[in-house]
Amino acid sequence: MNKPMPQADITIVGAGLVGALLGLQLARRLPDHSVQVLEAQPTLTQFNPSAVDPRVVALTEHSVDLLQAVGVWGRLASARVSPYTKMDVWDAEGTGRIQFDADSVEREQLGFIVENSLVVSELQQALSYQPNVQLCMGQRVKQLLLPESDAEDNFGQVQLILESGEKSATQLLLAADGAHSSIRTLAGIDARESDCHQQGIVTTITTERPHGQVARQRFMATGPLALLPLTTGAQGYQCSIVWSADTDCASNIMALDDHAFCEALTRASEGCLGQVTHADARFSFPLWQRHALTYYKPGLALVGDAAHSIHPLAGQGVNLGLKDVGALVGEIERALARDLPLGCMATLRRYQRARRADNRATLGAMAGFQQLFGADAHLLRWLRNEGLRQVDRQPLLKRFLINKAMGVNS
Ligand SMILES: Cc1cc2nc3c(=O)[nH]c(=O)nc-3n(C[C@H](O)[C@H](O)[C@H](O)COP(=O)(O)OP(=O)(O)OC[C@H]3O[C@@H](n4cnc5c(N)ncnc54)[C@H](O)[C@@H]3O)c2cc1C
Repeated sequence: MNKPMPQADITIVGAGLVGALLGLQLARRLPDHSVQVLEAQPTLTQFNPSAVDPRVVALTEHSVDLLQAVGVWGRLASARVSPYTKMDVWDAEGTGRIQFDADSVEREQLGFIVENSLVVSELQQALSYQPNVQLCMGQRVKQLLLPESDAEDNFGQVQLILESGEKSATQLLLAADGAHSSIRTLAGIDARESDCHQQGIVTTITTERPHGQVARQRFMATGPLALLPLTTGAQGYQCSIVWSADTDCASNIMALDDHAFCEALTRASEGCLGQVTHADARFSFPLWQRHALTYYKPGLALVGDAAHSIHPLAGQGVNLGLKDVGALVGEIERALARDLPLGCMATLRRYQRARRADNRATLGAMAGFQQLFGADAHLLRWLRNEGLRQVDRQPLLKRFLINKAMGVNS
């Protein structure tokens, strides 16, 4: 599994959730093409069923469909996924509140909370069994040479030199190497970056009262707190939390001992699940939004967090990345059906057109939310409370928003 082949039709850098799914989709839908996946981690991701991974993702229906299409969803569902049937979002500073219910859109659930390591480990396993895929662990690209011209008829190969010194070449290089993408940097693609001046704190908690499969989010002036219901632990008393807080506030929270942290969390959640009785180890990381100025260059496309990373307040990061996968695979298939070569500029341009505006709109909305809920001005507070109340009273608008959040067309 470890020795990279010198040449592959398509090379993907990064076997995280987005890169691994992209590799599987391409390999299955283009069985006559070879796919090489280079991943920096030395070994396959392992899922530990006896612990809860603090990094979770909320998957929409569209993302579940993509996982189903590559035969992985069934394995996840039988291992550990947590459906949520309601969402409850409210403003700590006022009376604004909005609630979404799966019943109102005739669905069994609004989405699923899934541990990142479970999805990635299943996808990587499936990749490693796929005959036309070579999954190369512990490999990083050191140097990159893209075809020189971006003329429509230039279909030269992308040349790669790996840190191990080995050389490789490919017709199409797909960068799925995350928010700090080294391929994006090596290709000289700039990204618009904004520091959210917040840290995200993640951990798994146990509460006094059951969560009832409700995903809760409380917006405070210092940042939002999300309580995501898990099926782990006894009878639904465990949640994964993402607590985004202004940098100073987050440092203070991280410095608390376990008892004081649980007390702080009980207060921050307004005791909506009673006392927080236990918290696992906490992890924190700085929050940035980034958007690549272009998603492609000759022979290269960026996908997932390599192209865009987003504030976790609406839990949309992976879902946007998986939408990129759907669009890019569709465009590549379309081009091949017309006998166009892999990496053809028209294909990459169509991919960018399909995804960049949607991603930009979502990034913009997240920045707007963060500012709106962080604002202390009386008028803005009134506006957001009134706004939430008004939306909550409009069944059609709510239905539209639920479908948007679920990644389905209304
Ligand atoms: C706290 C938190 C909560 C979140 N909650 C949600 C949520 O509820 N819903 C949601 O949709 N999204 C959520 N997200 C966002 C989500 O985790 C990311 O959008 C998603 O992981 C991006 O996937 P990716 O595969 O593009 O990148 P990554 O997951 O970062 O994977 C990149 C892969 O590339 C590899 N790699 C890196 N550099 C190299 C290199 N040079 N060479 C080779 N390989 C390399 C890495 O080892 C890794 O395997 C959350 C994020 C955070 C931080």
